[in-house]
Amino acid sequence: MRAETLAIHAGYEPEETTKAVAVPIYQTVAYTFDSADHGAALFNLEADGYRYSRIANPTVDVLEKRLAALEGGVAAIALASGQAALHYAMSNVADCGGNIVSVPQLYGTTHTLFTHILSKQGITVRFAASDQASDIEALIDSETRAVFCESIGNPAGNICDIEALAESAHRHGVPLIVDNTVATPILLQPIAHGADIVIHSLTKFLGGHGTTMGGAIIDSGRFPWKDNAKRFPQFNEPDASYHGMVYADRFGPRAYIERCRSVYQRNTGAILPAMSAFMLMQGIETVALRMERHVDNALKVAQYLESDPRVAWVNHAGLPSSPYHELARKYLNGRASSLFTFGVVGGVETGKQFYDALNLITRLVNIGDAKSLACHPASTTHRQMSAENQARAGVKPEMIRLSIGIEHIDDIIADLDQALTAAAGQHRLPIAAE
Ligand code: PLP
Repeated sequence: MRAETLAIHAGYEPEETTKAVAVPIYQTVAYTFDSADHGAALFNLEADGYRYSRIANPTVDVLEKRLAALEGGVAAIALASGQAALHYAMSNVADCGGNIVSVPQLYGTTHTLFTHILSKQGITVRFAASDQASDIEALIDSETRAVFCESIGNPAGNICDIEALAESAHRHGVPLIVDNTVATPILLQPIAHGADIVIHSLTKFLGGHGTTMGGAIIDSGRFPWKDNAKRFPQFNEPDASYHGMVYADRFGPRAYIERCRSVYQRNTGAILPAMSAFMLMQGIETVALRMERHVDNALKVAQYLESDPRVAWVNHAGLPSSPYHELARKYLNGRASSLFTFGVVGGVETGKQFYDALNLITRLVNIGDAKSLACHPASTTHRQMSAENQARAGVKPEMIRLSIGIEHIDDIIADLDQALTAAAGQHRLPIAAE
């Protein structure tokens, strides 16, 4: 089935007792055992079923199956936030030590996690000079545990050549992990292009309404952990924390996700609540429709801004002026993201005046809401980074990041126009969508 259908149906058949059409919210901590033996079998992972909601919950389970279906994976785990998903994904692949090789264009908190948190856990992150596969490959060595990129960088808007990155990673026996938050599986499915693990912040376009935090890791099931036992002992040697289980033997293609659940979710507990899973699934039902409008609106806004003399530059992959225009055609079928950046003539000060003058478009740090949103990354999301690291991440001092929503295009453009007039002190004529 296609994504539009999977987003509504995958992972759920009306459940047997009530035949409820909507996915029920299982607001329960624990599940009864038929007997001592049944409890033991569940704990031994020999029987299917639930025991405690820090490990699995039936509502969350539907979301996990739905996400796995949408991304073309074999299994998924849903977690408390995108950052929790990133932390678990990196720890799960590299908790025996070693390094992760990453593109430099990352969401600010991911950069902070990589630089300041993982390093304290004995995992080094090596940032490549660019998102080019040759720059990434130059940093991979025998201690590398994964290559990491955002399919569409937030806020840089770069589009990674996933096939080239996957080839480089696989040549050296390491998996490619892709944060697909900005693209969503509606615009791009990294697994179809060779990625091994996909990460999402569900908080953004997938949930889509700015109401609910969540994250997920989706496993393609294709990475051969067993053939790389020296690099990945955690999947191939008995786990003392789970009575000697060998994940690659016990779970085969699901080894990565099941270890993530049994080791990380079970012991450190960054669970997604059932109510959140329900809320996120309401959003996911309409994600394909919303993405169409997001993409259409954003291209119109980008064209409008690029033709406005009060605007200095626009970075949107749907414009032929973008260095990522060709990759947008290849990977996104030309449907560039509604997350993009621009700068006004007059630099930082005029940019601030423009930002303060916005009425409809909300000033905040979030993306992927049905509402149009604006943020100034240098002073907020990427504030913890040095000026040099900001530049490598694609963050300019005057840069405004827009996440264009699904309101009527004329209203969005009218708000941008009045804010530009307030900041630049001059009208643009004619005031109309291109
Ligand atoms: N990945 C990307 C690309 C993001 O943009 C964000 C948040 O903006 C995250 C991960 C973190 O997600 P969350 O806020 O759900 O922790």
